[in-house]
Amino acid sequence: MRIECPHCLQKAVITSRNNLTEAKTVVDLYCKCTNPACEATFVCIMSFKHDLNPPAKTTAQIAQNLLNHLSQEERAQLLG
Ligand SMILES: [Zn+2]
Repeated sequence: MRIECPHCLQKAVITSRNNLTEAKTVVDLYCKCTNPACEATFVCIMSFKHDLNPPAKTTAQIAQNLLNHLSQEERAQLLG
């Protein structure tokens, strides 16, 4: 992930991170600008927003739950 310095717009590097939630969905990123004329240090926040596709395991669990709510006939019709 590329971080840019908000002051000079040059490349910055992440020097450390601090997880703000147990699931690591919100993280403070401590950054340092690599531009020798700037050398600013700053904190960015990175957060999970939403899934585009759920993890495969989740999809399988959803399918299994749906199958469990079908009758034998409906299940046979769907899988046959
Ligand atoms: Zn900078």
